[in-house]
Amino acid sequence: MRLTKLEVHGFKAFADHLEFVFEKGVTAIVGPNGSGKSNVSDAVRWVLGEQRARAMRGAKMEDVIFHGSSARKQVNMAEVSLHFDNTEGELPIPFKEVVITRRLLRSGESEYLLNRAPCRLRDIQDLVRGTGLGADSGVVIESKMIDSLLSDRPDERRELFEEAAGVGLYRDRRRSAERRLEETTTDLARLDDLINEVQ
Ligand code: ATP
Repeated sequence: MRLTKLEVHGFKAFADHLEFVFEKGVTAIVGPNGSGKSNVSDAVRWVLGEQRARAMRGAKMEDVIFHGSSARKQVNMAEVSLHFDNTEGELPIPFKEVVITRRLLRSGESEYLLNRAPCRLRDIQDLVRGTGLGADSGVVIESKMIDSLLSDRPDERRELFEEAAGVGLYRDRRRSAERRLEETTTDLARLDDLINEVQ
């Protein structure tokens, strides 16, 4: 599986539709300070489902939408698409090319698409996390993650390795199953109380 292309439109400093084509062998993006290198890595993390505005270096998620410049008006929608070559089938979906898209409107509405068809964030997370590509997996390493790696708290370090190894998906599913189990146990207890009351 190879990242072949990144499309951005209205995302951060990229007001117009722009394509970054990653030919084989491209390993770095270089440019002067403030030219938008970090905005490219932000776009990758965002489309993979990043939910924390601060991880996008903003106060609220709408801050990722191009907010205008001296030469241009602001726009009302940010859209990012990531293209993967999936000829080896590493992403568990029967397509040779996989395109993941995320959109956000200034009104707050947001949408995820998989090969241009609307889907849930959960679908994207489930698709990519088994490959170690999830938003928290270490695909993009920010300085805070380096702090976690150097942390003397073993649970913090363990979470990073779990995400990178693709185990995080199962940990989260287990947590949500445990939560549902707890809710069901509470419901059952309430039901017992009700039965006792009417008997
Ligand atoms: P450095 O090398 O200094 O870290 P960089 O090349 O990584 O810089 P970025 O931090 O990616 O650059 O880009 C910063 C630029 O993006 C700034 O000029 C900032 O004003 C612009 N920018 C960020 N968010 C938005 C937005 N929502 N609308 C318009 N411009 C934005």
